Amino acid sequence: MDLSVDWDRCQGHGKCYLTAPELFQPDENDDWGRAAVLIPVVNESDTATFARAREAVSQCPEFAIQLGSSVPAE
Ligand code: SF4
Repeated sequence: MDLSVDWDRCQGHGKCYLTAPELFQPDENDDWGRAAVLIPVVNESDTATFARAREAVSQCPEFAIQLGSSVPAE
């Protein structure tokens, strides 16, 4: 599933990269500390990583993290 962060919502709280540092880090070019995604596609069969991604989604106070299937272009 695709993992992404909506920078219009992200406020740089850092809960995602504290929760799942293997998936997120503060973007090195952003003064607000908004999150960069390290693994943009998470395989559901990797249950440990997928669980961490879901945990990060639940921890984000801004609902900025999306974890879901990409919608094919028409
Ligand atoms: S927890 Fe949410 S708001 Fe905070 S840095 Fe991560 S994505 Fe951004």
